[in-house]
Amino acid sequence: MRAVVTGKNTTQRLLLDEPMSAHTSWRVGGPVDVFYQPDSIQDLVTFLSGHYPDHEIHWVGLGSNLLVRDGGIRGVVICTLDLPGRIERVDEQHVQVGAGVPCTVLARQCARWKLGPAAFFAGIPGTLGGALVMNAGAFGGETWDVVKSVKTIDRKGVLRTRTTDDFKVAYRSVVGATDEWFLGATLALSSDSDASLSSITALMRERGSSQPLGKRSCGSVFRNPPNGFAAQLIEVAGLKGMRFGDAVVSEKHANFIINTGSARAEDIESLIEEVRDRVKADSGIALELEVRILGERLS
Ligand SMILES: Cc1cc2nc3c(=O)[nH]c(=O)nc-3n(C[C@H](O)[C@H](O)[C@H](O)COP(=O)(O)OP(=O)(O)OC[C@H]3O[C@@H](n4cnc5c(N)ncnc54)[C@H](O)[C@@H]3O)c2cc1C
Repeated sequence: MRAVVTGKNTTQRLLLDEPMSAHTSWRVGGPVDVFYQPDSIQDLVTFLSGHYPDHEIHWVGLGSNLLVRDGGIRGVVICTLDLPGRIERVDEQHVQVGAGVPCTVLARQCARWKLGPAAFFAGIPGTLGGALVMNAGAFGGETWDVVKSVKTIDRKGVLRTRTTDDFKVAYRSVVGATDEWFLGATLALSSDSDASLSSITALMRERGSSQPLGKRSCGSVFRNPPNGFAAQLIEVAGLKGMRFGDAVVSEKHANFIINTGSARAEDIESLIEEVRDRVKADSGIALELEVRILGERLS
């Protein structure tokens, strides 16, 4: 890892050959050419409009839905974790949230303000930006259920505010303007006298009984097929405990793949492909990926 000083405001936040394993919850992934973690929108605008015009750009939040291959990423990764725009209550029912805010922090703040529905965000161990991309959901709630508008930035650093009409939203799928990324959102919530930190704790305790939390994983690897559950199909195919190297299909929740030690991205990807093939052979159902895969294989 090599830090590059490009000006007063970007010191130590522009890194060359930064290992992506440090930025993904599976803790795998080779180096990205340029890793940039801005802490001001102005810096970000300057960067996008002036630097690396020919490089491919990818964004990352907490890397909790991302498999980066062992050969790494040729291009630029922009990390949202230091972006300004944390959580601000605009009025009685509206909250502005920056893309880099962890959903768990958002859930707890809304509980303190007695606003809902927002407890479901506690089940999503990523950022709001990642949740907007995935229409992430938990405990029966989905991100875009509560979105009023979003702020975006494009490849040239142009900022926009967009409403929900600009996006086609479905289960774990959001389609909108291409080459635009999320800087934050305004959420429309209601007063909820039942919202509390203790109810969030109870939800997470319940979740811990059925999911291997605290392990190196990306949550559910596959989307649930219509009228079914990916975990059930994987379990029925007898694949719990199947392993490639240190990558293992969880015994607790079959749609989770755990890095139990020093798995490589290649082990995880091979296991994903094997699970998909075997489920297809067993049930006839072709599972679709929920996790995003980026980067190059080692040659
Ligand atoms: C233990 C565990 C449990 C999980 N449980 C759930 C669950 O219940 N429900 C659920 O939906 N998900 C779940 N996930 C998956 C994951 O937490 C969500 O998909 C989350 O929304 C990803 O956010 P992130 O910040 O980690 O995104 P990342 O993994 O960093 O990125 C995901 C994708 O979004 C893109 N991206 C990230 N930020 C931006 C941005 N600001 N603008 C544009 N693109 C961006 C990335 O390029 C990538 O394509 C779980 C994961 C784990 C590890």
